[in-house]
Amino acid sequence: MIKLHDINKTYPGAVPLHVLKDINLEIKRSELVSIMGASGSGKSTLLNILGILDNYDTGDYYLNDTLIRDLSENRAAELRNKLIGFVFQSFNLISYKNAVENVALPLFYQGVSRKKRNRLAMEQLERMGLADRAHHLPGELSGGQKQRVAIARALITNPAVILADEPTGALDSQTSREVMGIFRELNVDKGMTIVIVTHDPAVGEQTNRIIRIVDGRIVS
Ligand code: ADP
Ligand code: MG
Repeated sequence: MIKLHDINKTYPGAVPLHVLKDINLEIKRSELVSIMGASGSGKSTLLNILGILDNYDTGDYYLNDTLIRDLSENRAAELRNKLIGFVFQSFNLISYKNAVENVALPLFYQGVSRKKRNRLAMEQLERMGLADRAHHLPGELSGGQKQRVAIARALITNPAVILADEPTGALDSQTSREVMGIFRELNVDKGMTIVIVTHDPAVGEQTNRIIRIVDGRIVS
């Protein structure tokens, strides 16, 4: 599903920062893995490359056997929309759209009719146990509910892989366990491939493999 070979990335600047160093990594279909490391170790940079949100300098990255390198912005967006569901620490919901509208949004970009996207979004919210919150704005939802809306939005395009950057970073430990329970269920029941970046050992322990990164290098 995901294959990285000798990936390097440097952020340019007065003092260039070599942030990813010879990254070799393979993640297979239906894996539930975490990427763990200290703040500043390069986790988000790595996840952004996996999500085709950022470029790398050298090496190669294959996603679903497609070489991801020097893509046009249109092609990158097309692949992202088709293959990837994102979940972020800060939820990234649109504050003036209600839950069902937020979940339906990726389908808007795929040209799906309003009626169909609202029906599919409602089904996703039901699966997340949020049917009764469908017409509430993000500001009227708890942190755990917001993250469940974000997960529903990530799932609505039926992506090949879910990429989550510190998805429990803004949640208390009880809610964090609930959200991890949802990821585990998606992995076990649906065979969803899920990659979770975290610095929380309790989150890492709930995944099936931990990839450790120190100063931009994978150490285990
Ligand atoms: P993590 O997610 O593990 O905390 P990041 O991948 O966000 O780490 O950042 C790794 C390093 O790269 C940090 O030192 C950070 O300050 C730096 N960095 C991140 N993004 C940029 C950027 N757009 N430009 C320059 N430096 C960056
Ligand atoms: Mg980060």
